Amino acid sequence: MFTVQKFENTPIDSVTYIITNPENNLAIVIDPGTENDDRLLDYFEKNAVIPKFIFLTHEHFDHILGVNYLRSQFPEIEVIASDKTSERLPNPKKNLAIFHNQINLVVQQADILINEGKFSWINLNFEVFRTPGHTDSSISISLENSFFSGDFLLQGSRIVTNLPTGSKKQYQESIEKYDHLLKGLTIYPGHGESYIYE
Ligand SMILES: [Zn+2]
Repeated sequence: MFTVQKFENTPIDSVTYIITNPENNLAIVIDPGTENDDRLLDYFEKNAVIPKFIFLTHEHFDHILGVNYLRSQFPEIEVIASDKTSERLPNPKKNLAIFHNQINLVVQQADILINEGKFSWINLNFEVFRTPGHTDSSISISLENSFFSGDFLLQGSRIVTNLPTGSKKQYQESIEKYDHLLKGLTIYPGHGESYIYE
């Protein structure tokens, strides 16, 4: 059993999710995309939740803007990302921050590198999938019938594949590869509302 809490980010409307295991009150934060986000701290405090991990679906600034703050507030927290995402976190040209209001965003590399596979974190069984297309670094994570897709899946809008390392061909291959697995799952995308994949 687990709970999912959703937070919409600013200045870009990406979405942050907090997955909590109510049996031990430990949590994973997916894509913290607002700088100095005190809403997350309030949530942890009110619910006596301890954030153990940050999971990053890819390196774009609107998915990582809150990482530095969470690391400063929770020195024990560990950041999980793909190897390519991790390499690009410290580079504001590669995390694209510099192209948006020239935010000079530098995030230190991940603590745990994961490209795919099954993992037990906070006593819950997750699976990580390589889902390139939006970027070549993109990964998604599933938990039971929930699938946290980052920018790999968005309801009703076309996926952006023309940013650096994006590829329409890779995106189509990812969709073909996972189409069967995704059917019936609840998708928690990196932007917008969650939905059932059909
Ligand atoms: Zn993105």
